[in-house]
Amino acid sequence: MSATTSSTPPAPVPPGLPACAQVDLSAISSNVSALKSRAGDAEVMAVVKADAYGHGLVPSARAALRGGATWLGVAQLPEAVELRRAGVVAPLLSWLHVPGQDFTEALELGIDLGVSTTWALDQVMAAATATGRTARVHLKVDTGLGRNGAWDDDLAALLSTLAGAQAEGSVEVVGLFSHFAYADAPQHPTVRAQQERFEGIIEQAARAGVEPQVRHLANSAATLTNPSAHYDLVRPGVSVYGLSPVPDLGAPEDFGLREAMRLVSRLSSVKDSPAGQGVSYGHVYTTAEPTKLGLVPMGYSDGVPRHATSVGPVQVGDRRYVVAGRVCMDQFVLDLGADSPALAGDEVVLFGVGAQGEPTAQDWAAAIDTINYEIVTRVGARVPRVHVGGEGAA
Ligand SMILES: *Cc1c(COP(=O)(O)O)cnc(C)c1O
Repeated sequence: MSATTSSTPPAPVPPGLPACAQVDLSAISSNVSALKSRAGDAEVMAVVKADAYGHGLVPSARAALRGGATWLGVAQLPEAVELRRAGVVAPLLSWLHVPGQDFTEALELGIDLGVSTTWALDQVMAAATATGRTARVHLKVDTGLGRNGAWDDDLAALLSTLAGAQAEGSVEVVGLFSHFAYADAPQHPTVRAQQERFEGIIEQAARAGVEPQVRHLANSAATLTNPSAHYDLVRPGVSVYGLSPVPDLGAPEDFGLREAMRLVSRLSSVKDSPAGQGVSYGHVYTTAEPTKLGLVPMGYSDGVPRHATSVGPVQVGDRRYVVAGRVCMDQFVLDLGADSPALAGDEVVLFGVGAQGEPTAQDWAAAIDTINYEIVTRVGARVPRVHVGGEGAA
């Protein structure tokens, strides 16, 4: 047990549960404080969208605030509303909307709104009129990502409407922000180009009479690798949960980060099998010799990717295995070996911090050719999040 990589000892899966995602809130707090030291004078907005990247929205957000985050960021308005309803009072930004969305509740709850389209600004202004409140807006600009954000004529139109709305008091332009296409490749020429464009737009906004208090551009990768992109506020997400945004450049510990999530199950059964037995749907795996087959009660509905068939790494006791045969909806199988001491009820660790030889979320990402973000965010709703290591821990 290594004290440097884990301050909260792994807890067993609660009795009777097929699986759980144990979330170490003290890791989230300490990751945020590591990010805060990296960020220098910039404040930290911890991004807690998508149920805090699968870690549980409210407890994770509170842990991030304890670690020194002064802002929280989410994609969708319902996520922001849930935080406010839970009593979270920190500045909170939501940035991805659809036409028809009613912003009156957001204004009543003091939620800042990212705005990148004229329809959204119209609806925000309508909500300001309806509630008599000043809408707090962050203008989202596209500096080259080619995704969400205003550019060209739309940007010019938004700036002029914002300047007018600000003058009459219905809107306060709190922020101006953008997002990188290649932050995980810090040397990529688009990184510098996007920053130059961002600075150009800051000047364009000032000429239009819009001077936001906070300019923000950096996600996790830029927070960790590109100080020139920090501006007034950084928006780390994946690194808050202890995952490296740039696995080719550094492991979590290289950045002072520690994985917060440990995904654990238990063997549902262990049975003797003859040689030559096909395993699971389609028999894509066949036992080579007499062996023991262990059944793990987690499947793709729990976020174990079906692509993990034959490659997903797990640990049982002190042994490492890969998934034997197809991952099914609710279960998958391990070929434990004839000499395995494993018994039904023994723990199966899918991923954790790696300090006891268990795989990490990054190992899963590498095994199925995806990114660590997808591994943790896709842990299914059926898997209870068990919070340890902090206030709000179960
Ligand atoms: C998700 C997201 C982030 C956080 O990105 P990470 O790579 O997880 O740090 C920051 N800003 C925006 C706009 C996002 O959508």
